Amino acid sequence: TEPLLAADGVEKAFGPTQALRGAGVSVAAGEVLAIMGPSGSGKSTLLHCLAGIVRPDAGTITYGGRDLVAMSDRERSALRRTEFGFVFQFGQLVPELTCLENVALPLRLAKVGRRKAEDVAREWLERLQVSDVADKRPGDVSGGQGQRIAVARALVTRPKVVFADEPTGALDSLNGEKVMRMFTEAARQTNAAVVLVTHEARVAAYSDHEIVVRDGRVADRELAQ
Ligand code: ADP
Ligand code: ADP
Repeated sequence: TEPLLAADGVEKAFGPTQALRGAGVSVAAGEVLAIMGPSGSGKSTLLHCLAGIVRPDAGTITYGGRDLVAMSDRERSALRRTEFGFVFQFGQLVPELTCLENVALPLRLAKVGRRKAEDVAREWLERLQVSDVADKRPGDVSGGQGQRIAVARALVTRPKVVFADEPTGALDSLNGEKVMRMFTEAARQTNAAVVLVTHEARVAAYSDHEIVVRDGRVADRELAQ
């Protein structure tokens, strides 16, 4: 299949630190890609380059045939808003809003009316099996529930690509696997590509394709599933 998002020969330095030294990877629609590797190897930087958050010093990033590196900041932020989704750590949910309102928020920001936004948000809570906490605030739910709310919030706008940096980092393994199962199932249902950073093999097991970043380069280790 044709890749939806691809990086090739990406280099990025932060001052004297060479975070990426020619990294390349691609992901197709409906595919889940796991980026693994030791701490400090460049995983998050690669994810941020793919997501158009960090601009590489060299190399190419193409999304749907468009050159992400050549785009203006404005174009890239519009793309992030409309076609990309981000699973933040659950601590980044808005504490003053209910879980339902948190999930509805990206739709509200996209000018969807309140009633419609909350109806759609409710469907996503159902899909992630967290309908029971719809009216609670994020501070009053468990870590696993909160992370599933964060997944629902990332998917509610039906992004083409969903990015997640250590989406289960704060969870025990049982809850982490539950989040990953529901996250990847929901993403596949919407044909979204998923790019996730993790250092846990148990989490990467939910991917279709796994790469290992070492010293800013990709050492491919594809897993047939
Ligand atoms: P990983 O996600 O694999 O832990 P990162 O991509 O976060 O690795 O970081 C790779 C290297 O780049 C590290 O040495 C890190 O300290 C450095 N780095 C990443 N982002 C920044 C930044 N914004 N400023 C300075 N150094 C950074
Ligand atoms: P860690 O991954 O060890 O938790 P941080 O929380 O410092 O490290 O940063 C997470 C990621 O956010 C880094 O890998 C880096 O790529 C990115 N980052 C940090 N600071 C900045 C910044 N000022 N501008 C852009 N990206 C940043």
